[in-house]
Amino acid sequence: MHLILLGAPGAGKGTQGSQLAERLGVPKIATGDILRGAVREGTELGRRAKGYMDAGELVPDELILDLVREALADDSARQGAIFDGFPRNVGQARSLDRILLELRRRLDGVVVLDVDDDVIVERMSGRRTDPETGHVYHLVHNPPPEEVAVWVVQRPDDREETVRHRLTVYHDQTSPLIEYYEQTDLPVHHVDGTLPIEQVQAKILSSLNR
Ligand code: ADP
Ligand code: ADP
Repeated sequence: MHLILLGAPGAGKGTQGSQLAERLGVPKIATGDILRGAVREGTELGRRAKGYMDAGELVPDELILDLVREALADDSARQGAIFDGFPRNVGQARSLDRILLELRRRLDGVVVLDVDDDVIVERMSGRRTDPETGHVYHLVHNPPPEEVAVWVVQRPDDREETVRHRLTVYHDQTSPLIEYYEQTDLPVHHVDGTLPIEQVQAKILSSLNR
């Protein structure tokens, strides 16, 4: 199963993607997580990506495609993958088509998590991450356990101003992918991302007939 999760920053792609990946037994390929790891480790990739990420801009495609190629070549991804945060623009979508063709694999579908911008801004302000495990929480909607709550951190790009810019980038560059995929014969499932986390998961699974 090769599945793309599409949606604005904060729509719940990471939260749903982790649960789905576990259920379906395939890895989640989250380019944002991979990039944040590279920034933390201070690698060449991290150094080149950091400025774009802090500004809420997309990192150049050539830095992203190698990551995806590598992740897909991993043994764990033999049965497929859940793409979270990739592709981010039409160029990346075309490249993904090419990469999958080379690997003789194909996409099975696209899930779009629909969430309005005003909800997004509230979500991002409450988003906290466990820096040890990468697990994502929300102070109100999905609070961390007490022992974890003391060390969760806020992402630097989750400040309101940067979130608003990332939303503009999403509407300009990423949301056209919905139409891009609707013009193919791939199934594109729209799910109401404002429902509680478990209900969103259930709707995704039923749209995939699972
Ligand atoms: P969110 O989960 O809030 O949508 P991500 O973790 O996916 O955010 O991405 C955080 C940042 O990492 C983006 O603002 C961008 O700078 C960079 N990034 C992640 N994935 C990509 C990608 N596929 N192409 C370009 N930049 C990316
Ligand atoms: P994305 O990967 O699309 O940027 P996340 O999965 O990181 O989104 O979710 C953004 C924030 O919203 C997190 O703090 C997460 O705990 C919270 N969240 C995710 N899904 C829901 C939901 N259905 N209802 C309320 N809060 C949610």
